[in-house]
Amino acid sequence: MQFGIVQNERFKAVDGSYSLVTNRELFDSQITATDAETTLLRNYFITRGESIHVGNVKSNKEMASKEFKLFPTGKTIRLNLVFPKPEKGELRLYLSKSAGFFPNEGDVWFLFLGRLDNSLWIGSMPEKEWRRENSFWKKDELENNSVNLADIDEIDAQIIENQKIVAPLSPIADISKSQTVRRREIAVVRMQQSRYKCEFDVTHSLFIAKATGCPYLEAHHIIPICFQKQLHGLKLDSIDNLCCLCPTCHRAIHHAEDVFVKEILNTVAKKRDIEKKFGLSMEALYRLYSVEEIVR
Ligand SMILES: [Zn+2]
Ligand SMILES: [Zn+2]
Repeated sequence: MQFGIVQNERFKAVDGSYSLVTNRELFDSQITATDAETTLLRNYFITRGESIHVGNVKSNKEMASKEFKLFPTGKTIRLNLVFPKPEKGELRLYLSKSAGFFPNEGDVWFLFLGRLDNSLWIGSMPEKEWRRENSFWKKDELENNSVNLADIDEIDAQIIENQKIVAPLSPIADISKSQTVRRREIAVVRMQQSRYKCEFDVTHSLFIAKATGCPYLEAHHIIPICFQKQLHGLKLDSIDNLCCLCPTCHRAIHHAEDVFVKEILNTVAKKRDIEKKFGLSMEALYRLYSVEEIVR
């Protein structure tokens, strides 16, 4: 699978590719490259004037041996890479314990072209770790939650409902007032339109917020607003990208297990017609949340 915004951001990559290591691949100590991996490897070595050897490794050991940078240390390693068959159908990469590239079964292995050094990096890690690290934006949001109202997508109903109450509580309200105020306004409209119900499940019970006298809800940007820079063609700070969730569902979309995150995302993305309005497929959305299915 080709890197998306999340992976490119995380690894400071121009481009990259990732997939799961299968039992068979481990058994054979070799990985058959997927289409995206093949394209990346081909282009990288071709632009360096190095062709990829066609034939088995033994028939030209020197040409078969290619240089990579091992993630995360950056150590230079050499791995064998060949097109075993004359018709070049599949590209094969050999694992090597001595070189330090030897994933476990079910690990994610990845290749990427570094933005800073223009080198081809290679690495692997357990799938859980891969997903956890790719959820970097979820953590940031939580840490900032209580203070930085303008930067994050957390806008809670009682704050939004009554700006007079909240203004003194927000340390950055004066600096970026227009943006903050605007976000509050559109979130209020969204809550009114949702009739003050959790949009994942209208039966979820809500308490009444003391400050507003309205059921307490939180607003969430379905396409995370921290990707605005990368998705510069889309207007993420918009009512079409907002949903209202009860506090439990809101925490869940950020921190629950993949299956549940997908379920909530599906419901709210369909309600807002994210696919049509933003041209972002469910699969693309899953990848932003790091809950996509990784190919083998
Ligand atoms: Zn949120
Ligand atoms: Zn809910």
